[in-house]
Amino acid sequence: MSRSAHPAGPRHADVLPEGHYTAPPTDLNALDSKVWSRTVARNADGAVTVGGIEVARLTEEFGTPAYILDESDFRARCRAWAHAFGPDADVFYAGKAFLSRAVVRWLKEEGLNLDVCSGGELTCALDAGMPAERIAFHGNNKTVAEIERAVTVGVGRIVLDSFQEIARVAHVAQRLGKRQRVQIRVTVGVEAHTHEFIATAHEDQKFGIALAGGEAAEAVRRALALDGLELIGIHSHIGSQIFDMAGFEVSARRVVGLLAAVRDEHGVELPEIDLGGGLGIAYTSDDDPREPHEIAKALGDIVTRECEAAGLATPRISVEPGRAIVGPSAFTLYEVGTIKPLEGLRTYVSVDGGMSDNIRTALYDAEYSVALVSRASDAEPMLVRVVGKHCESGDIVVRDAFLPSDLAPGDLIAVPATGAYCRSMASNYNHALRPPVVAVRDGQARVIVRRETEEDLLRLDVG
Ligand SMILES: *Cc1c(COP(=O)(O)O)cnc(C)c1O
Repeated sequence: MSRSAHPAGPRHADVLPEGHYTAPPTDLNALDSKVWSRTVARNADGAVTVGGIEVARLTEEFGTPAYILDESDFRARCRAWAHAFGPDADVFYAGKAFLSRAVVRWLKEEGLNLDVCSGGELTCALDAGMPAERIAFHGNNKTVAEIERAVTVGVGRIVLDSFQEIARVAHVAQRLGKRQRVQIRVTVGVEAHTHEFIATAHEDQKFGIALAGGEAAEAVRRALALDGLELIGIHSHIGSQIFDMAGFEVSARRVVGLLAAVRDEHGVELPEIDLGGGLGIAYTSDDDPREPHEIAKALGDIVTRECEAAGLATPRISVEPGRAIVGPSAFTLYEVGTIKPLEGLRTYVSVDGGMSDNIRTALYDAEYSVALVSRASDAEPMLVRVVGKHCESGDIVVRDAFLPSDLAPGDLIAVPATGAYCRSMASNYNHALRPPVVAVRDGQARVIVRRETEEDLLRLDVG
């Protein structure tokens, strides 16, 4: 396909600028089911629908930018994870990816548990009716007030992250006359990211207690000795957006090694191991994530094999997917504003949001795809960079992608796979109003998190 038809676009492949893209897709109207939620489709008129509703209708009712969350997709992913791991394991949804009271209710109905890592997330979970025993409390610096609250309401587990916290939680529990179920988070000397994992000799990070040097074994010693704590297992979380199971393999082996050492020293077999989250999703068509049942089988096999080798009964496994559940369930809908072709480089397409609703591109150099969704187009592809409206040249939403060269202001474009870490990391930079989250299901759309208003902004600004 020739790109030269667009007068302002790059002329030949050999003058295309540096970027993450490969060739333009053969059909810009196609919607890759890997990156779009399940009910997204193009109708006979060429407009994109989700849950049976045209995107133009959503913008009429709810405006742009907006996060559109496909409820049946979200629920289907919850069920797939719960089913894949079965009754002998526990799936904890990592609330930090995206949390709202509606989402908590869906999780509860679909049989999932919930990870929180702040008092605010705990409030949201409890307010929406998640039973405390199905909540795990994480974080490297829980305040004493947060710990008191978590112990008082009776969360199912607190994941201990430091020696000081072991003492702190034990003290709080004892003072409240409780025995708190806890896990110890260990760092296993593995750092996993996307297609590779790195075995690190030392643990230069803020989370967890190192296995290396016997620190984790000492943490277990202390936790077992404290009356306020019931140590139920060991936790590890090795990274994010992981496709390669090799990192989990090493991590599980090392955690099981600790379980064996604990048995040898204390005569205690800890009943649970938590392998964390971090399972990757497709942001672009180049990504090939595994299905939950493949992940469950791989993790189950690894743990079973390592435990057999160590002569241990297989512990109960838990996992904590966040992104892998909510990430693909939502897309961000934007209206196209200024279009600025830069001769020989690329065309800058500005949208009515940006780094305030999706910081991941600026923060992690994340890759996304984008599509024209208000209509179909047969125009030639043009190389674009989708940018926001903020006063920052790093305000990029999609670094490199192709859109039809007849794109015009007023068109609607959508960035798929923005369900995780977009609304939850959204900011008010430039006094932007954080976009709503609109849940769509079976032809019905409803706001589950409303758009911020200027009154909201001024309410906090007390003058
Ligand atoms: C962030 C986090 C997760 C979820 O990570 P995802 O990449 O969203 O799956 C799970 N467990 C812990 C401890 C985390 O910090």
